[in-house]
Amino acid sequence: MSEFWNETVKRLSPYIPGEQPQDRSYIKLNTNENPYPPSPHVFTTLIETISSKLRLYPDPNASLLKNALADYFHLQNNQVFVGNGSDEVLAFCFQAFFGQEGVLLFPDISYSFYRVYCSLFNIQYQEIPLNDAFEITVEDYNRKNSGIILPNPNAPTGKALKRNDIVKLLENNKHAVVVIDEAYVDFGAESAVELIDSYPNLLVVQTFSKSRSLAGLRCGFALGNKHLIEALERIKNSFNSYPLDHFALSGSVSALKDQTYFQHICKQIISTRQSTQNALQALGFRVIDSSANFLFVSHPQHEATYLYQALKEQGILVRHFNQPRISNFLRITIGTDNEMESLLTCLATLLKHKRA
Ligand code: PMP
Repeated sequence: MSEFWNETVKRLSPYIPGEQPQDRSYIKLNTNENPYPPSPHVFTTLIETISSKLRLYPDPNASLLKNALADYFHLQNNQVFVGNGSDEVLAFCFQAFFGQEGVLLFPDISYSFYRVYCSLFNIQYQEIPLNDAFEITVEDYNRKNSGIILPNPNAPTGKALKRNDIVKLLENNKHAVVVIDEAYVDFGAESAVELIDSYPNLLVVQTFSKSRSLAGLRCGFALGNKHLIEALERIKNSFNSYPLDHFALSGSVSALKDQTYFQHICKQIISTRQSTQNALQALGFRVIDSSANFLFVSHPQHEATYLYQALKEQGILVRHFNQPRISNFLRITIGTDNEMESLLTCLATLLKHKRA
């Protein structure tokens, strides 16, 4: 620990993202990336951007992207905020809405970055346990709080809440901001976006990283009441005028406009998820029903740490979380049909050769 660190730095335990190994090529089923390339229109736009835009600063207000998102979601452009990946948007939400007084509520099994933001921004929080079926029970959030955040579908379980449950949550918590992190919503869950005009305390956060295959471009966004959006703008403009570069701005607009391609790859991933779930169950795995682009699985006879390590040695990366309640689970991203075939073949061999 450096003598020059301040108290905040000393207390941090930073988020550990999934591995992005550079030493060899893997079948990457560990960070919920999309296995398909982005819309071909994105490539054309990015080439044009190189020749025409690099000399100039990007638009600090991201107006074209905000207009495109507002059109897409039938909102006003002052109801849209954009940031460098939804991680940055979420960080700004923690700074803007979740203060040092009271407790922020989120599920005990959830996106582990939430805890990290709490320690960075010194926010008190309470983790609300999922039930034994790994579901969020919205009534459990009827307790004193200074805000609520949850992913829908939840990560890493993949379980989704119905829109009616989100309505209950909003009805019972009108005093505080409720952030619904919809990073995976396009793979089969119900979005809360249509509730925005009825609930001034609702903020929905989404990303171009998953369903639009643009994790490498870094673009996320928040949708909500204009006063919530203004708060996020105030934070952003006190931190960095240009979080999105020309590529992120123009590439995201192109991806958003190619609705046909978007629907096609989401449908493909949902169908691969179903066939993978069936095949894993046939191998004896417990598989949680998922509305996301990943499956959360455990095997009654085989330890997750062993399977994780053995798959890695065979060139297949999946995610293991060494955390209470889920240390015997693996999170497996849905890849192409061929990639899932390789995973299943490898697992079948491992289960046969390793005695439980
Ligand atoms: N929310 C959840 C639940 C996630 O799993 C992720 C991806 N790690 C994010 C937000 C952030 O994604 P990005 O910053 O790529 O938009």
